[in-house]
Amino acid sequence: MSLIDTIIRPDVRALAAYHVPDATGFLKLDAMENPYTLPMPLRQALGQRLADVAMNRYPVPSYAALKAAICERLGVPAGFDVVLGNGSDELIAIVSIACARAGAKVLAPVPGFVMYAMSAQLAGLEFIGVPLAPDFTLDLPAMLAAIALHRPAITYLAYPNNPTGALFDADAMCAIIEAVGETGVVIVDEAYQPFAQASFMPRLAQCDNLLVMRTVSKMGLAGIRLGYMAGSAALLQEFDKVRPPYNINVLTQAAAQFMLEHTDLLDAQAALLRAERSRMLAALAALPGLEVFPSDANFILVRVAAGARDANDVFANLLERKILVKNVGKMHALLQNCLRITVSTPEENTLLLDGLGAALGASLNAAPAAIPGLHQGPAQVMPT
Ligand SMILES: *Cc1c(COP(=O)(O)O)cnc(C)c1O
Repeated sequence: MSLIDTIIRPDVRALAAYHVPDATGFLKLDAMENPYTLPMPLRQALGQRLADVAMNRYPVPSYAALKAAICERLGVPAGFDVVLGNGSDELIAIVSIACARAGAKVLAPVPGFVMYAMSAQLAGLEFIGVPLAPDFTLDLPAMLAAIALHRPAITYLAYPNNPTGALFDADAMCAIIEAVGETGVVIVDEAYQPFAQASFMPRLAQCDNLLVMRTVSKMGLAGIRLGYMAGSAALLQEFDKVRPPYNINVLTQAAAQFMLEHTDLLDAQAALLRAERSRMLAALAALPGLEVFPSDANFILVRVAAGARDANDVFANLLERKILVKNVGKMHALLQNCLRITVSTPEENTLLLDGLGAALGASLNAAPAAIPGLHQGPAQVMPT
């Protein structure tokens, strides 16, 4: 027996290694990043702020000032606090660990954000994925039946959902929160809230088992790694015991506090991206051979239609054109032939539209039939 076989958990050994495609030189439209950077005067002010940070000191682990700024500037209702994570990925891990009692289960619609299942597995919780309807709306009867059967400790609802893009019906979500009742928490994951302009934050006061999780990643600060989750003080207190005490580093803390003084800039960038999303939805729908799904996020899910070649060919053709989108076809049966495209600047979006139009045309005209297994996109399990 090798060292690896002896010491590493079999389920960890069985995991596929993270595959991050090298995006150097590519038009990068695969990870829902905000394409806009800061104007030069703000960069300089931020640089000064970071230069003043005491990097020789540990962070103060209560993060009181940062939490207060988040609550005030990002719409957390009065009377509610937040717990902070090194990205919302870490919050998902923290909740999984805190709730990992023997036999506890995690439930979420699928296809959904891969970290829900991944974190559940690593914490030893069983993951129950309930398929969405083929149009990617919630299958409410199936969700309610699964909740009655499994009594999940944690239920995730991404609002809007990734990788499908649209908001779920709010009434259906309320029915789910009510059905879960006192035997579980429901985490509404609002990673794309700046682009959706809809939120469950105002409902925190009505639902004891509701937690609302967000991140600054998709609003333009993916690199600093900061997520936050609002909910009842009693629940947050328990999650805080699991949180590594210094999980937010001093530079992230200072950068976040600086940016929270400039939310007008982030709001303006989100507004630009929402306007571009409208343009892209229309322009993509006009491309022959493409089905376009509605989006309330900063990405758009499309399906390469039957009759055209498959999405793997289109994806590979885009790669040849130095355009990187996300090939999600293998994530779930419902996503067959689907690609997920990040909405970017007007210039980059136009490059994508031109490239995709050409790639679809090339696919339509290509002579030999696709060879299964060839040109498949990277088998990614990256959280984005
Ligand atoms: C991107 C994403 C996150 C992860 O956010 P980080 O804060 O960058 O870890 C969480 N949930 C969903 C649905 C996402 O798409």
